Amino acid sequence: MKIVLLGAPGAGKGTVAKLLTDYDGSVQISTGDILRAAVKEGNELGKEAKAYMDRGDLVPDSLIMKIMEARLQEDDCQSGFILDGFPRTIPQAEALRELLKRLDIRLDMAVNLDVPKDVILDRLTTRRTCSNPDCQAIYNIKSNPPTAEGTCKKCGAPVIQRDDETEKAIMNRLETYNEKTAPLISFYEKEGLLKNILSLNSAETVEEIKKYLAG
Ligand code: ADP
Ligand code: ZN
Repeated sequence: MKIVLLGAPGAGKGTVAKLLTDYDGSVQISTGDILRAAVKEGNELGKEAKAYMDRGDLVPDSLIMKIMEARLQEDDCQSGFILDGFPRTIPQAEALRELLKRLDIRLDMAVNLDVPKDVILDRLTTRRTCSNPDCQAIYNIKSNPPTAEGTCKKCGAPVIQRDDETEKAIMNRLETYNEKTAPLISFYEKEGLLKNILSLNSAETVEEIKKYLAG
């Protein structure tokens, strides 16, 4: 499959993307994961991206397009890809359209994971992350808490609120989403590629996507 996953932060794009890779071997391409790995490594890309990410701002389009132009031409993309967290702005979506045209690749669809705002807010504010850079296990203080001491069950390191998971950064991420990313829904609708899915359960969402792919 060759699809784009749209949805607010906390909508579950990452989880759905992972489940879809198990289905047909398409690769998950998450610009968030690529950027976090670069920050962890401390390379040029990471240095440039870190401050934007910590504030919950978007990384500049030019940087993202440089990453994606290279990534989409790697061999593992031939059998299919699931774009998770990209495109995030209209200019990125336009640049992607041109890039795919040039590479003679056709998207199957753009799937919007539609999740009610209160659910999104609850998910984002209860998320916690293991502070060990080699672990980064994800917890949720309500549904999947760390140990009573607040440490990671896998590696024992303290579990913390990531810089971009503070209330201030979360509000900023949601505002940025509404302003810059939500317009992509009508962009892909006009392209005739949009599928909207009311998404509260990742497994059910995946089944719906499979049905669309089948025809
Ligand atoms: P979330 O969807 O939970 O906000 P991501 O893992 O997709 O998180 O992205 C984390 C951060 O990385 C974003 O807040 C943003 O700063 C940056 N980022 C990821 N993808 C993009 C993109 N396509 N364009 C610009 N910035 C991006
Ligand atoms: Zn850990």
